[in-house]
Amino acid sequence: MKVPHDLFLGFVKLHILYHAGREPVYGLWLIEELAVHGYRLSPGTLYPILHGLQAEKLLTSETRVVEGKVRKYYRLTATGRKALEQGKIKAQELLEELQ
Ligand SMILES: [Zn+2]
Repeated sequence: MKVPHDLFLGFVKLHILYHAGREPVYGLWLIEELAVHGYRLSPGTLYPILHGLQAEKLLTSETRVVEGKVRKYYRLTATGRKALEQGKIKAQELLEELQ
């Protein structure tokens, strides 16, 4: 599946918010996680999404050095948590209607 088609962008964003709410996540990890779900994103596609979520204050980032590599970790903000909760409700509602 080629993503993000605009149609799936919201799903991808919800995945990102969900995982960033469980633990700090970095780009490559997200690319692998999203691939498990059938979303194949290149860094050139993922990073603008992450930057957008950060600009909307749904994610914050911090730079860490892990095994000599500089990595940017993203975490869910309080605003992001509220957006994720609303997203869950919307997704559930949609799923019920689609069935
Ligand atoms: Zn996931």
